This record gives sequence, structure tokens and C-alpha cells, in this order.
Amino acid sequence: MADRVVLVINSGSSSLKFQLVDPAGPALASGSVERIGEESSSIPDHDAALHRAFEMLSDDGIDLRNCGLVAVGHRVVHGGKDFHRPTVLDDAVIGKLEELAPLAPLHNPPAVLGIRVARKLLPDVPHIAVFDTAFFHDLPAAAATYAIDRELAAQWQIRRYGFHGTSHQYVSAQAASFLGRPLAAVNQIVLHLGNGASASAIAAGRPVETSMGLTPLEGLVMGTRSGDVDPGVFSYLWRTANMRVDEIESMLNHRSGVLGLAGERDFRRLRSMIESGDGAARLAYDVFIHRLRKYVGAYLAVLGHTDVISFTAGIGEHDAAVRRDALAGLAELGIELDEDRNLGAGARRISTDRSHIAVLVIPTNEELAIARDCMGAIASAAKPGAGGRDGRVEVL
Ligand code: ADP
Repeated sequence: MADRVVLVINSGSSSLKFQLVDPAGPALASGSVERIGEESSSIPDHDAALHRAFEMLSDDGIDLRNCGLVAVGHRVVHGGKDFHRPTVLDDAVIGKLEELAPLAPLHNPPAVLGIRVARKLLPDVPHIAVFDTAFFHDLPAAAATYAIDRELAAQWQIRRYGFHGTSHQYVSAQAASFLGRPLAAVNQIVLHLGNGASASAIAAGRPVETSMGLTPLEGLVMGTRSGDVDPGVFSYLWRTANMRVDEIESMLNHRSGVLGLAGERDFRRLRSMIESGDGAARLAYDVFIHRLRKYVGAYLAVLGHTDVISFTAGIGEHDAAVRRDALAGLAELGIELDEDRNLGAGARRISTDRSHIAVLVIPTNEELAIARDCMGAIASAAKPGAGGRDGRVEVL
């Protein structure tokens, strides 16, 4: 076992994922507890889920009180306008996170539940929140601003926040190092395609555009989320179909996207449906690809000059057909995929040698990135004058 390890917790409404990470090396253990709070589940709440997670680790021979644990890192989806650095959690910070619940009603409350339980069970190490919005905190105003009534927007903190920031930041750094170039010398597009999907444009290491907005609903077509829709759909359903606001929100988040169109959200099963001639599955796939291409085109224009496009997350890393279809026929824009490289595995270049823009597959690793952020937060909290005393971590 490494001498300094971080437990990374991603606590969602019905699942809790955990990973024990050596920030300097590989993941040491990982797992997930699913179906929290569902009727037929033996896991009634997040307290039970975390106890179950600890049991699973202990079954693997890991005693969290005696394994070099130096921090618990919590993935928190929404940091609002104030949180954009990894933040040591105390009661005051947790209180502020609770106040952010209206901005991320589906995501922040379960994260806070996980944080509360984890702090109770592991009181002797710092707990640190790492925010999905952090990387995009300084998006240029032109990209972050919705063209709506500015006073209303200011009053209610309505802006484009962006999400999956940990992944976009990690993958963009990996892509630059794959190319052997400084991050500051490359302009990139990162396509994070998992159940949630988002794109970002990053100029010289600085994000300049991203597809998600006030919430993770905007942008690409996703497993169960619609991505971009005319906001008029919302008021039309409310007024005409007599749907309540929470019903419309739930439909757009949980019953839309590929699932809404095809009845299936998993891309492996979607592929077999397409192969067996399912027209709805075909349309869902076509809509997904169309939206993705539209964003790639937009981001090429936003960047002006692009050096590299990276695919990451479940679909981005594993679905060769999605990568092929997303970038087919773009030789005139300097993008040319190599069929054999595209079919390979692992981190690699999948463009031809003559493609002006390098296209890469870069596996994301959000847990490792969170663990490293935690180490950074501990180091800066321990610096004299930065809230620490005697080299010990102090809650900020
Ligand atoms: P999450 O956003 O939940 O972390 P993932 O990044 O794990 O999601 O991505 C899940 C998606 O990746 C699913 O649609 C799944 O079908 C797809 N996926 C995973 N492995 C493959 C594969 N080998 N081929 C095609 N799609 C895959």
C-alpha cells in the first residue's frame, strides 16, 4: 500500500462510487453501491451506502483507519460562483453548498449527504470538495453570459458554469503531454462522451467555451438528457400539456437524449438495436452525431486554430464508430482519421500522419485528478499563513 492515499467519493442520488487512489500511482481499489433508497434495495440511504462501501474495502483487506489515508475527496457537481478551488469542508462550507442546491437540485444534495456521512465516519482526515464547475470558472464573459435580462441574471446567478471540468482539465493536460508540447502551446477541443456528455474548447490551457451551461442539461445529446432545446419547449409543455415544472425538468434530464428517442441509453445496446434495423435507435444515433459535429464545427471557429481534438469517457474512449462518424468528411478542415488507429485501444493518436489536427483518444481519470487536487489543497492549507499550523491541515 502507498504511504499516502486519498479516498475519492462521488455521491449521486441513487449511487455512490468510491475509489482509493495513490495520487502518485494507480487506483488501489474501487467500487460502487447502487440503487440507494430504491424500494427493493437493501441500502435505504447514503449512510448505509457508505457503510457498505467501507465493508467492500475491508473485504478487500483495506482498513481505512490504517492505510495511509490523508484525505477524502468529494466530487461536487456545482460550485456556484464562489467555489472554484478544491475546498476543505467544514460546517460553514457545507452550509454554503446546501445553499447552492437550487442551482443543482439533482446533484448537490446527494453530494452533501455523502459528505456529511463520510465526515462522521472518517473524522480524523480532511474532507475536500472538488468542483465539476471549477475549471470553467474563468470562461470569457462572451462565452459565460446568456443573452437574457442582465439584472435578472445577476440577481439569480444565471450564467454558463460548465461541468465535467475535472475531466476536461485532466484530458487536456494529458493530450498536451502526449504530443510532447507545453499546455500553453496547444489549442484543443475535448469531447467527453459518457452518459453525460460535454465538449470544451481550450486555448493555451485556458477554457474558452464549453457545452454545458447553468446546469449539466445544455449542449450535446446525452444518455438521458436532451442537451440543447429551445426553452420555448419548456413553457409550451407547461402551458399546453399541463405538465408541472418538476415533471418537465425530470423529462428533460431523465427521459430524453438517446433514451428518450430510442428507449435505450447504453451505446453498446443502442448499436445492436441499430444493427437489427431499429429505426428509432438509428435516429437517436444520428441526432447524437449531428449535434456533436455541430459543436466540433463551432469550436473550430471559436478557436480559429486547433492543434488537437481528444475523445474521452465511456463512448469517446471505446466507440470507434462514434469517433469516425463525428469527424468523417472533415479533411478540408484539416481532420483525417486513420481507420486502423481508430480501431485500436488505449491512449493513442487516431488521426493520420498528414492530418493537420491531431485526433487522440485519452482515457479520463477523474478520481486521480480529484486525488491530486486534494494533495494540492492539503499542501497549500499546511503552508504557514495559509490557514495551517505546525504543518497540520487546518480547516479553512
Ligand atoms: P458516466 O457518465 O456514467 O461516467 P461512462 O463514461 O462510463 O459514463 O460512459 C458510459 C457510456 O459508455 C455508455 O453509453 C456505454 O454504453 C458506453 N460504453 C462503454 N464501453 C463501451 C464500448 N466498449 N463500446 C461502446 N460504448 C461503450
